[in-house]
Amino acid sequence: MGDYKDIWVFIEFKKSTIRGVSFELIGKAKELAKKSNEKVCAVLLGNSISKFCEELAYHDIDKIYLCEDAVLEEYLTETYSSILVDLAKEYMPNIILIPATKIGKDLAPNVAATLETGLTADCIDLNIQEDNLIPTRSVYGANYLVDTICPNKRPQMATVRPNVMEKSEVSSKTNPELIEFPVKIDSSKLKMKIIEKIETTTTDIKPIDEAEIIVSGGRGIGSKDNFKIIEELAAVLNAAVGASRAAVDAGWISKSCQVGQSGTVVCPNIYIACGISGTTQHLVGMKSSKKIIAINKDPNAPIFEVCDYGIVGDYKLIIPLLTEALKKKLSQN
Ligand SMILES: Cc1cc2nc3c(=O)[nH]c(=O)nc-3n(C[C@H](O)[C@H](O)[C@H](O)COP(=O)(O)OP(=O)(O)OC[C@H]3O[C@@H](n4cnc5c(N)ncnc54)[C@H](O)[C@@H]3O)c2cc1C
Repeated sequence: MGDYKDIWVFIEFKKSTIRGVSFELIGKAKELAKKSNEKVCAVLLGNSISKFCEELAYHDIDKIYLCEDAVLEEYLTETYSSILVDLAKEYMPNIILIPATKIGKDLAPNVAATLETGLTADCIDLNIQEDNLIPTRSVYGANYLVDTICPNKRPQMATVRPNVMEKSEVSSKTNPELIEFPVKIDSSKLKMKIIEKIETTTTDIKPIDEAEIIVSGGRGIGSKDNFKIIEELAAVLNAAVGASRAAVDAGWISKSCQVGQSGTVVCPNIYIACGISGTTQHLVGMKSSKKIIAINKDPNAPIFEVCDYGIVGDYKLIIPLLTEALKKKLSQN
């Protein structure tokens, strides 16, 4: 075990931007590394991605492992996991942290199985005790928190939910050691290849995962048509539209808008919950929002226990007034 050292963060990016969750993991890795006296290392896999090294240098990282090749242009389980496995075998990290995104949830178990080590998936917190990573998961409908350890195998691996940890603060520029790892993959021998890419996210749905403002509707909205009232407020605020699972299950809005335990965990500056009661499964998805505003006609709705501002009343009366007032106010600025 003694030969394994350092904390690695798998960096995920979308087009030309490093995803926010990568900075959340770097922030947590730095906190853990202080306790375990280890180095924080970023792992960058892709094609033409050396530009990200500059940005990472402002996050007080010790090392960057860079694997660049045309074969890594698009994510494929086979290529990405084989490179990450080779890297881990050669450099022997103590901990590998991977975002619990679509890519991360596919990549991490493959890597863990090949390395014959343990993986704790979809963690909401991470601690460290005497070299052992202690990941925390929420289980049984978010009613319990469970800590797990992997004392006999290394590296220790975890995938971490986006939007549950503080992002790493930007520091003054440092000079992380750059390790360029050669990619030796013969693309003609791959079992999988991408034939065609079809974008599934429709352009008129603003993604909730990195939105600054979210206006969310629940069962109290009553119908698909009524969601237009929510969408109008969202449009004025340039916000994303979110929803409770009840609204999604009713078919009023796309699953990609669902906030909560089995949806997306969000952390916007402002979260406006309309006609949402505030069950545990919804709250785990939004309670870290900076400001929470709740509109509900039931004064005893649990959402009022977590909100910063609460309005008791019918959203059909309140939201149009709010939309008009904001329209006027914002047009004056
Ligand atoms: C394993 C598991 C995973 C789950 N995952 C999720 C998840 O990811 N996300 C999620 O949201 N839920 C999730 N759920 C479901 C969750 O338990 C609740 O059923 C759901 O969150 C309820 O949604 P709601 O608040 O919209 O509906 P309700 O609880 O029915 O609340 C509707 C609210 O609307 C109010 N209301 C009604 N009319 C009006 C009006 N005109 N104006 C103002 N207010 C009004 C009511 O007072 C009420 O408080 C999960 C459940 C399980 C078991």
